[in-house]
Amino acid sequence: MTGTGTPVLRLEGVRKTFGRDTVVLRDVNLDVAPHTVTALIGASGSGKSTLLRCANLLEEIDDGAIFLDGEDITDPRADADTVRRRIGVVFQAYNLFPHMTVLDNITLAPRRVHGTSRSQAQAHALELLDRLGLAGKASAYPDRLSGGQQQRVAIARALAVRPRLLLLDEITAALDPELVGEVLNVVRDLKGDGMTMVLATHEMGFAREVADQVCFLDGGVVLERGSPEQIFGDPREERTRRFLRRIV
Ligand code: ADP
Ligand code: MG
Repeated sequence: MTGTGTPVLRLEGVRKTFGRDTVVLRDVNLDVAPHTVTALIGASGSGKSTLLRCANLLEEIDDGAIFLDGEDITDPRADADTVRRRIGVVFQAYNLFPHMTVLDNITLAPRRVHGTSRSQAQAHALELLDRLGLAGKASAYPDRLSGGQQQRVAIARALAVRPRLLLLDEITAALDPELVGEVLNVVRDLKGDGMTMVLATHEMGFAREVADQVCFLDGGVVLERGSPEQIFGDPREERTRRFLRRIV
């Protein structure tokens, strides 16, 4: 754990099941300090996406609690919409609205959900596009963009609400290999800006480079957590070792 103070995100004893037999998260504990990057690694089906979806209240947990800036967001009295406004999410498939321009995709949430004026939302969107190397793409439709460009638009859209926390779920998994780098560069830049991020990834080299803490999910728990040096260089758990041997 790096950093001090109240974690931006904290999971305490989180349990998530689907139906009667599928226990995906059994007892997950996780702390994400401000301005740090946490990489979730683990086999396909280990619950990385489910964890991120629980953190964004897209899934209801069965037990435990999730805190955002110290506030219990799984308390039944918490307002899911208010919580989601503080969290940006980017999924594997970019999910841009195909009938909207890049600019409209990015300004939709700030205008609809946050009540930002059109001109303010557009000014911020243009600034984000510029920063993500997409200046000049504001009036393009998603299908005219490459996969890497679309995913950067999706990141811009997530940033448009000025989130406290960014959740990134395998954001390079659907990209052609030559487009992965430009998306990872954006994540690098965001880290440089101090954005707090949790990312599920199969890009071990990237996790190693960008993460402050790496969490290995296995059997419904964070089986092992540590610095990238420790997890990739000297994993304590046999299961972690086996996973890394398979994947690298
Ligand atoms: P990962 O992202 O690590 O690959 P997931 O969180 O997607 O893992 O999935 C973990 C497990 O939960 C898988 O066995 C998957 O089939 C199951 N699962 C995920 N979502 C649902 C759902 N909505 N209904 C039933 N099972 C689900
Ligand atoms: Mg997943």
